[in-house]
Amino acid sequence: MTKVHNFSAGPSILAESAFAKSVQDIQNFAGTGLSVLEVSHRGKQFEAVMAETENLVRELLGISQDYDVLFLQGGASTQFFQIPLNFLKQSAAYTDTGTWANRAIKEAQGYGEVNVLASSKDSNYTFIPKNYEIPSSVDYFHCTSNNTIYGTQIQQFPHCEVPLICDMSSDIFSRPIEANKFSLIYAGAQKNMGPAGVTLVIVRKDMYGRKANRHIPTMMDYKIHADNGSMYNTPPVFPILVSKYNLEWVKEIGGLTAMEKRNEEKASTLYTAIDNSPYFKGTTAIEDRSKMNVTFVFEKEHEGLAEKFDAACKEAQLSGLKGHRSVGGYRASLYNALPLDSVQALVNVMETFA
Ligand SMILES: *Cc1c(COP(=O)(O)O)cnc(C)c1O
Repeated sequence: MTKVHNFSAGPSILAESAFAKSVQDIQNFAGTGLSVLEVSHRGKQFEAVMAETENLVRELLGISQDYDVLFLQGGASTQFFQIPLNFLKQSAAYTDTGTWANRAIKEAQGYGEVNVLASSKDSNYTFIPKNYEIPSSVDYFHCTSNNTIYGTQIQQFPHCEVPLICDMSSDIFSRPIEANKFSLIYAGAQKNMGPAGVTLVIVRKDMYGRKANRHIPTMMDYKIHADNGSMYNTPPVFPILVSKYNLEWVKEIGGLTAMEKRNEEKASTLYTAIDNSPYFKGTTAIEDRSKMNVTFVFEKEHEGLAEKFDAACKEAQLSGLKGHRSVGGYRASLYNALPLDSVQALVNVMETFA
Protein backbone atom coordinates (compact mmCIF):
# COMPACT_ATOMS: atom_id res chain seq x y z
CA MET A 1 0.00 0.00 0.00
CA THR A 2 1.33 3.43 -0.82
CA LYS A 3 1.48 5.92 1.95
CA VAL A 4 -1.43 8.28 2.52
CA HIS A 5 -0.44 11.50 4.27
CA ASN A 6 -3.12 12.11 6.88
CA PHE A 7 -3.78 15.79 7.63
CA SER A 8 -7.22 15.12 9.14
CA ALA A 9 -8.43 17.63 11.75
CA GLY A 10 -10.02 14.89 13.84
CA PRO A 11 -10.44 12.04 14.34
CA SER A 12 -6.86 12.23 13.36
CA ILE A 13 -3.64 10.41 12.76
CA LEU A 14 -2.28 8.23 15.60
CA ALA A 15 1.01 6.43 16.05
CA GLU A 16 1.28 3.31 13.90
CA SER A 17 2.54 1.34 16.88
CA ALA A 18 -0.73 2.08 18.67
CA PHE A 19 -2.70 0.32 15.95
CA ALA A 20 -0.50 -2.76 15.90
CA LYS A 21 -0.69 -3.19 19.68
CA SER A 22 -4.43 -2.56 19.77
CA VAL A 23 -5.11 -5.13 17.06
CA GLN A 24 -3.18 -7.65 19.10
CA ASP A 25 -5.37 -6.88 22.14
CA ILE A 26 -8.55 -7.24 20.12
CA GLN A 27 -7.45 -10.76 19.33
CA ASN A 28 -5.86 -11.75 22.63
CA PHE A 29 -5.82 -9.25 25.45
CA ALA A 30 -2.92 -9.48 27.90
CA GLY A 31 -2.73 -13.25 27.60
CA THR A 32 -6.36 -13.77 28.62
CA GLY A 33 -7.19 -15.62 25.40
CA LEU A 34 -10.11 -13.17 25.09
CA SER A 35 -10.56 -9.92 23.25
CA VAL A 36 -10.25 -6.66 25.16
CA LEU A 37 -13.72 -5.97 23.75
CA GLU A 38 -15.32 -8.86 25.64
CA VAL A 39 -13.79 -8.83 29.11
CA SER A 40 -14.81 -7.04 32.29
CA HIS A 41 -13.45 -3.56 32.79
CA ARG A 42 -13.06 -4.59 36.42
CA GLY A 43 -10.71 -7.45 35.66
CA LYS A 44 -7.12 -6.96 36.72
CA GLN A 45 -5.87 -6.71 33.14
CA PHE A 46 -8.05 -3.74 32.31
CA GLU A 47 -7.52 -2.15 35.70
CA ALA A 48 -3.83 -2.19 34.82
CA VAL A 49 -4.57 -0.41 31.52
CA MET A 50 -6.46 2.32 33.40
CA ALA A 51 -3.65 2.78 35.86
CA GLU A 52 -0.97 2.87 33.17
CA THR A 53 -2.93 5.36 31.06
CA GLU A 54 -3.42 7.63 34.04
CA ASN A 55 0.27 7.40 34.90
CA LEU A 56 1.25 8.30 31.36
CA VAL A 57 -1.01 11.36 31.44
CA ARG A 58 0.44 12.43 34.78
CA GLU A 59 4.02 11.85 33.75
CA LEU A 60 3.80 13.49 30.33
CA LEU A 61 1.91 16.59 31.50
CA GLY A 62 3.49 16.82 34.94
CA ILE A 63 0.22 16.41 36.87
CA SER A 64 0.62 16.25 40.65
CA GLN A 65 -1.48 14.39 43.20
CA ASP A 66 -3.42 17.62 43.77
CA TYR A 67 -5.34 16.67 40.65
CA ASP A 68 -7.59 13.82 39.57
CA VAL A 69 -7.21 12.43 36.06
CA LEU A 70 -10.55 11.25 34.68
CA PHE A 71 -11.55 9.34 31.56
CA LEU A 72 -15.12 10.32 30.76
CA GLN A 73 -17.53 10.16 27.83
CA GLY A 74 -19.59 12.68 25.90
CA GLY A 75 -16.70 14.44 24.20
CA ALA A 76 -15.42 17.94 24.87
CA SER A 77 -18.94 19.10 23.98
CA THR A 78 -20.29 17.57 27.18
CA GLN A 79 -17.67 19.51 29.15
CA PHE A 80 -19.16 22.69 27.69
CA PHE A 81 -22.16 22.19 30.00
CA GLN A 82 -20.73 19.91 32.68
CA ILE A 83 -18.31 22.64 33.78
CA PRO A 84 -20.91 25.40 34.34
CA LEU A 85 -23.37 22.86 35.75
CA ASN A 86 -20.81 22.08 38.46
CA PHE A 87 -19.02 25.36 38.99
CA LEU A 88 -21.03 28.31 37.72
CA LYS A 89 -22.71 29.79 40.77
CA GLN A 90 -23.10 33.46 39.79
CA SER A 91 -20.90 34.43 36.90
CA ALA A 92 -18.06 33.09 34.80
CA ALA A 93 -15.67 34.70 32.33
CA TYR A 94 -14.96 33.37 28.85
CA THR A 95 -13.02 34.43 25.78
CA ASP A 96 -14.66 33.92 22.42
CA THR A 97 -11.89 32.71 20.11
CA GLY A 98 -13.66 30.36 17.74
CA THR A 99 -16.50 27.97 17.11
CA TRP A 100 -15.74 25.73 20.09
CA ALA A 101 -15.23 28.59 22.52
CA ASN A 102 -18.50 30.03 21.29
CA ARG A 103 -20.31 26.76 21.94
CA ALA A 104 -18.87 26.63 25.45
CA ILE A 105 -20.20 30.16 26.06
CA LYS A 106 -23.68 29.24 24.81
CA GLU A 107 -23.89 26.28 27.18
CA ALA A 108 -22.64 28.29 30.17
CA GLN A 109 -25.33 30.91 29.56
CA GLY A 110 -27.86 28.32 30.64
CA TYR A 111 -26.44 28.31 34.18
CA GLY A 112 -25.57 31.88 35.08
CA GLU A 113 -24.12 35.15 33.94
CA VAL A 114 -21.44 34.83 31.31
CA ASN A 115 -18.96 37.63 30.94
CA VAL A 116 -17.37 37.45 27.49
CA LEU A 117 -14.15 39.33 28.13
CA ALA A 118 -12.94 39.46 24.55
CA SER A 119 -13.88 38.15 21.14
CA SER A 120 -12.24 37.98 17.76
CA LYS A 121 -15.51 37.04 16.09
CA ASP A 122 -15.73 40.28 14.09
CA SER A 123 -12.52 39.37 12.29
CA ASN A 124 -13.72 35.79 11.69
CA TYR A 125 -11.50 34.64 14.57
CA THR A 126 -8.19 35.39 12.89
CA PHE A 127 -6.40 36.29 16.13
CA ILE A 128 -6.25 35.62 19.88
CA PRO A 129 -7.45 38.64 21.91
CA LYS A 130 -4.92 39.57 24.58
CA ASN A 131 -5.55 42.77 26.49
CA TYR A 132 -8.38 41.84 28.78
CA GLU A 133 -8.59 41.62 32.52
CA ILE A 134 -10.17 38.70 34.32
CA PRO A 135 -12.45 39.97 37.11
CA SER A 136 -11.65 38.49 40.50
CA SER A 137 -15.37 38.11 41.23
CA VAL A 138 -16.10 35.39 38.67
CA ASP A 139 -16.38 31.70 39.60
CA TYR A 140 -13.88 30.73 36.91
CA PHE A 141 -12.29 31.78 33.63
CA HIS A 142 -12.59 29.54 30.55
CA CYS A 143 -10.41 29.63 27.45
CA THR A 144 -9.59 27.43 24.45
CA SER A 145 -5.88 26.80 23.98
CA ASN A 146 -6.03 25.94 20.30
CA ASN A 147 -8.76 26.95 17.88
CA THR A 148 -8.92 23.91 15.66
CA ILE A 149 -11.07 25.42 12.94
CA TYR A 150 -9.44 28.86 12.62
CA GLY A 151 -5.83 27.85 13.24
CA THR A 152 -4.95 30.10 16.18
CA GLN A 153 -3.31 29.05 19.43
CA ILE A 154 -2.64 30.67 22.79
CA GLN A 155 1.11 31.09 23.17
CA GLN A 156 0.92 32.61 26.62
CA PHE A 157 -1.94 32.01 29.04
CA PRO A 158 -3.29 35.11 30.79
CA HIS A 159 -2.60 35.89 34.41
CA CYS A 160 -5.57 34.50 36.27
CA GLU A 161 -6.44 34.58 39.97
CA VAL A 162 -9.70 32.70 39.66
CA PRO A 163 -9.80 29.01 38.64
CA LEU A 164 -8.40 28.69 35.11
CA ILE A 165 -10.29 26.20 32.96
CA CYS A 166 -9.07 25.27 29.50
CA ASP A 167 -10.34 23.31 26.53
CA MET A 168 -7.13 21.71 25.23
CA SER A 169 -8.83 19.29 22.86
CA SER A 170 -6.62 20.01 19.89
CA ASP A 171 -3.22 20.68 21.38
CA ILE A 172 -2.96 18.58 24.52
CA PHE A 173 0.28 16.56 24.57
CA SER A 174 1.69 18.73 21.76
CA ARG A 175 3.86 20.87 24.06
CA PRO A 176 4.75 21.08 27.74
CA ILE A 177 2.27 23.03 29.87
CA GLU A 178 2.45 24.62 33.30
CA ALA A 179 -0.12 22.24 34.69
CA ASN A 180 -0.26 23.91 38.09
CA LYS A 181 -1.75 27.05 36.55
CA PHE A 182 -4.94 25.23 35.68
CA SER A 183 -7.88 24.17 37.82
CA LEU A 184 -9.46 22.05 35.10
CA ILE A 185 -8.19 20.89 31.73
CA TYR A 186 -10.29 18.90 29.31
CA ALA A 187 -9.81 17.37 25.90
CA GLY A 188 -11.80 15.16 23.58
CA ALA A 189 -9.28 12.42 22.75
CA GLN A 190 -9.68 12.29 19.00
CA LYS A 191 -7.36 15.15 18.05
CA ASN A 192 -4.09 14.40 19.74
CA MET A 193 -4.52 11.68 22.34
CA GLY A 194 -6.35 8.71 20.90
CA PRO A 195 -9.52 7.66 19.11
CA ALA A 196 -12.95 9.26 19.62
CA GLY A 197 -14.97 8.05 22.57
CA VAL A 198 -13.01 9.13 25.61
CA THR A 199 -12.64 12.61 27.10
CA LEU A 200 -9.71 13.42 29.30
CA VAL A 201 -10.55 15.65 32.27
CA ILE A 202 -7.89 16.80 34.72
CA VAL A 203 -9.42 18.50 37.73
CA ARG A 204 -7.76 20.03 40.75
CA LYS A 205 -9.24 18.51 43.87
CA ASP A 206 -9.99 21.87 45.48
CA MET A 207 -12.62 22.41 42.78
CA TYR A 208 -14.92 19.91 44.51
CA GLY A 209 -15.43 22.45 47.28
CA ARG A 210 -16.61 25.01 44.72
CA LYS A 211 -19.64 23.12 43.56
CA ALA A 212 -22.76 25.09 42.71
CA ASN A 213 -25.82 24.53 44.82
CA ARG A 214 -28.03 22.81 42.29
CA HIS A 215 -28.95 19.25 41.47
CA ILE A 216 -26.08 17.61 39.63
CA PRO A 217 -26.88 14.26 38.00
CA THR A 218 -24.55 11.55 39.27
CA MET A 219 -22.96 11.04 35.86
CA MET A 220 -22.18 14.76 35.67
CA ASP A 221 -20.45 14.87 39.07
CA TYR A 222 -16.65 14.91 38.70
CA LYS A 223 -16.13 13.76 42.29
CA ILE A 224 -18.17 10.61 41.69
CA HIS A 225 -15.95 9.67 38.75
CA ALA A 226 -12.82 10.54 40.73
CA ASP A 227 -13.88 8.46 43.73
CA ASN A 228 -14.55 5.52 41.44
CA GLY A 229 -11.37 5.69 39.38
CA SER A 230 -13.38 6.60 36.25
CA MET A 231 -15.29 3.33 36.69
CA TYR A 232 -18.52 4.55 38.24
CA ASN A 233 -20.04 3.12 35.09
CA THR A 234 -18.42 1.20 32.22
CA PRO A 235 -15.62 3.35 30.83
CA PRO A 236 -14.88 3.52 27.09
CA VAL A 237 -12.42 0.66 27.32
CA PHE A 238 -11.14 0.55 23.76
CA PRO A 239 -10.50 4.29 23.26
CA ILE A 240 -8.64 4.28 26.59
CA LEU A 241 -6.53 1.31 25.50
CA VAL A 242 -5.57 2.90 22.17
CA SER A 243 -4.85 6.20 23.93
CA LYS A 244 -2.50 4.36 26.24
CA TYR A 245 -0.53 2.97 23.32
CA ASN A 246 -0.49 6.32 21.57
CA LEU A 247 0.83 8.04 24.71
CA GLU A 248 3.46 5.33 25.15
CA TRP A 249 4.71 6.36 21.73
CA VAL A 250 4.79 10.03 22.78
CA LYS A 251 6.88 9.01 25.76
CA GLU A 252 9.23 6.94 23.60
CA ILE A 253 9.84 9.92 21.32
CA GLY A 254 11.06 11.83 24.38
CA GLY A 255 7.90 13.27 25.93
CA LEU A 256 6.43 16.69 25.38
CA THR A 257 9.67 18.64 25.06
CA ALA A 258 10.71 16.45 22.15
CA MET A 259 7.16 16.52 20.80
CA GLU A 260 7.09 20.31 20.88
CA LYS A 261 10.34 20.47 18.94
CA ARG A 262 9.01 18.03 16.37
CA ASN A 263 5.75 19.97 16.06
CA GLU A 264 7.54 23.30 15.74
CA GLU A 265 9.69 21.95 12.96
CA LYS A 266 6.66 20.71 11.04
CA ALA A 267 4.74 23.97 11.55
CA SER A 268 7.63 26.23 10.60
CA THR A 269 8.34 24.16 7.48
CA LEU A 270 4.77 24.62 6.31
CA TYR A 271 4.33 28.27 7.34
CA THR A 272 7.60 29.15 5.61
CA ALA A 273 6.36 27.53 2.42
CA ILE A 274 3.06 29.42 2.66
CA ASP A 275 4.80 32.75 3.32
CA ASN A 276 7.26 32.20 0.46
CA SER A 277 4.61 31.22 -2.02
CA PRO A 278 3.11 33.85 -4.31
CA TYR A 279 -0.01 31.67 -4.57
CA PHE A 280 -0.96 31.05 -0.95
CA LYS A 281 -1.39 33.07 2.23
CA GLY A 282 -2.06 32.22 5.85
CA THR A 283 -5.42 33.23 7.35
CA THR A 284 -4.39 34.23 10.88
CA ALA A 285 -2.25 36.77 12.75
CA ILE A 286 1.33 35.56 12.59
CA GLU A 287 1.99 35.70 16.34
CA ASP A 288 -1.10 33.58 17.04
CA ARG A 289 -0.48 30.88 14.47
CA SER A 290 -1.35 27.38 15.58
CA LYS A 291 1.31 24.68 15.42
CA MET A 292 -1.42 22.07 15.19
CA ASN A 293 -3.83 23.36 12.55
CA VAL A 294 -2.31 25.38 9.73
CA THR A 295 -4.96 27.30 7.77
CA PHE A 296 -4.22 28.84 4.39
CA VAL A 297 -6.01 30.02 1.27
CA PHE A 298 -5.16 30.93 -2.29
CA GLU A 299 -4.32 34.58 -2.91
CA LYS A 300 -7.42 36.11 -4.48
CA GLU A 301 -5.97 36.41 -7.96
CA HIS A 302 -5.02 32.71 -7.98
CA GLU A 303 -8.26 31.23 -6.67
CA GLY A 304 -8.94 29.79 -10.09
CA LEU A 305 -6.10 27.34 -9.53
CA ALA A 306 -7.80 25.57 -6.65
CA GLU A 307 -9.08 22.69 -8.74
CA LYS A 308 -5.63 21.98 -10.15
CA PHE A 309 -4.06 22.16 -6.72
CA ASP A 310 -6.65 19.80 -5.26
CA ALA A 311 -5.94 17.31 -8.02
CA ALA A 312 -2.19 17.56 -7.37
CA CYS A 313 -2.78 16.92 -3.64
CA LYS A 314 -4.89 13.90 -4.45
CA GLU A 315 -2.25 12.57 -6.80
CA ALA A 316 0.37 12.91 -4.04
CA GLN A 317 -1.90 11.07 -1.57
CA LEU A 318 -2.41 14.09 0.68
CA SER A 319 -5.62 13.53 2.62
CA GLY A 320 -7.78 15.71 4.87
CA LEU A 321 -6.65 19.15 3.68
CA LYS A 322 -10.01 20.73 3.01
CA GLY A 323 -10.55 23.78 5.22
CA HIS A 324 -13.52 24.00 7.52
CA ARG A 325 -16.51 25.52 5.73
CA SER A 326 -16.38 28.62 7.97
CA VAL A 327 -12.85 29.48 6.77
CA GLY A 328 -12.67 27.83 3.36
CA GLY A 329 -9.37 27.10 1.69
CA TYR A 330 -7.10 24.56 3.33
CA ARG A 331 -6.29 23.29 6.78
CA ALA A 332 -3.33 21.02 7.38
CA SER A 333 -3.54 19.45 10.81
CA LEU A 334 -0.09 18.55 12.09
CA TYR A 335 -0.94 16.49 15.17
CA ASN A 336 1.79 14.62 17.05
CA ALA A 337 1.84 11.46 14.98
CA LEU A 338 2.08 13.23 11.62
CA PRO A 339 5.67 12.83 10.38
CA LEU A 340 7.74 15.67 8.95
CA ASP A 341 7.82 13.65 5.71
CA SER A 342 4.11 14.31 5.25
CA VAL A 343 4.61 18.06 5.66
CA GLN A 344 7.46 17.85 3.18
CA ALA A 345 5.19 16.04 0.73
CA LEU A 346 2.65 18.87 0.99
CA VAL A 347 5.34 21.54 0.59
CA ASN A 348 6.64 19.71 -2.49
CA VAL A 349 3.22 19.81 -4.07
CA MET A 350 2.89 23.54 -3.26
CA GLU A 351 6.29 24.24 -4.82
CA THR A 352 6.11 22.06 -7.91
CA PHE A 353 2.64 23.36 -8.46
CA ALA A 354 3.97 26.91 -8.45
C1 LIG B 1 -13.09 19.01 18.30
C2 LIG B 1 -13.16 20.01 19.38
C3 LIG B 1 -14.21 20.03 20.30
C4 LIG B 1 -15.39 19.09 20.19
O1 LIG B 1 -15.01 17.85 20.67
P1 LIG B 1 -16.04 16.63 20.76
O2 LIG B 1 -15.21 15.62 21.49
O3 LIG B 1 -16.40 16.25 19.37
O4 LIG B 1 -17.22 17.08 21.55
C5 LIG B 1 -14.19 20.96 21.31
N1 LIG B 1 -13.16 21.83 21.44
C6 LIG B 1 -12.12 21.85 20.57
C7 LIG B 1 -11.03 22.83 20.75
C8 LIG B 1 -12.10 20.93 19.53
O5 LIG B 1 -11.06 20.93 18.66
